[in-house]
Amino acid sequence: MKSCHRAFTLVELLTVIAIIAILAALLLPVLAHAKATALRIQCTNNEKQLVTASFVYATDNRDKMPGNGRQTPPAVTTNKFWIQGAMVNPSDNTNTAYLFNANYALYADLIPSQKTYLCPADRNTVKIGAVTYPRIRSYEMNAYVGWSGAWDYRLDTNYKLFRKQGDFASVSMTEGTFVFIDVQPDSICWPFFGVMMATTYSNYFFNFPSSAHNRGAVVAYADSHVEWHQWTDGRTIAAKSTSYHSHHELSTANADLGWLRERTTVPDKSPNGSGNANGGGDKRGQGVAGYQYFEPND
Ligand SMILES: [Zn+2]
Ligand SMILES: [Zn+2]
Repeated sequence: MKSCHRAFTLVELLTVIAIIAILAALLLPVLAHAKATALRIQCTNNEKQLVTASFVYATDNRDKMPGNGRQTPPAVTTNKFWIQGAMVNPSDNTNTAYLFNANYALYADLIPSQKTYLCPADRNTVKIGAVTYPRIRSYEMNAYVGWSGAWDYRLDTNYKLFRKQGDFASVSMTEGTFVFIDVQPDSICWPFFGVMMATTYSNYFFNFPSSAHNRGAVVAYADSHVEWHQWTDGRTIAAKSTSYHSHHELSTANADLGWLRERTTVPDKSPNGSGNANGGGDKRGQGVAGYQYFEPND
């Protein structure tokens, strides 16, 4: 009896393998793109929650935006910020008390989830001793929003501070005012995102924005919309600094800096400056007793 059993020839087998390889090659970029889109959507969702929380807070606190700023050490309970901690201090990178303890963070009761503070595309870790930990935060709030306490001398004093929810409507910023942004993991530091506004420093980065989302960052605005923005300059996309925490990186004629500046704040036209006019202990431009202004590497 003749057997009808027939094996594949080597050529047939190789053909099938080649076809599978071609299909996989076609499919992988599609999958990678879908994954990148998913991360961007999660990040957008995080910032939507962060910006919504800021207005929930303002509504409950006579229109006052949640505190933001810089203080040393961060564990100050009298002048609470939305969250605290400065990533220049290694232990702050893992100290969740600065996010979830109501003694420090105004957001403690508003955002209970760790995931909300971490951009899903931010895979950076921090090493303390021999142990590697994931970071706890990827976002910063526009320095000109909610600032409370001693002003950072490196930022300009003559620009509008948005201390109340109503302040956003009092200025004309056609592109909108950003409130939150995801930050380049090596550059993230204090709760605030600094943008150099003075013309003298218009070519400097204080903080670098993230470029983890297909060369772009996710940005939340004062009208609560959140968008993804792709950077155009290689020096923003592949941020590089020999000293991130001197917060003073020259990037001459970088259009991305212009984009940020346009969405940060506007010159302050009120007679005494917005901070003084609104009260709230603004000490911009002044030294504060016991406050170390000139840390070489903050
Ligand atoms: Zn992100
Ligand atoms: Zn720093």
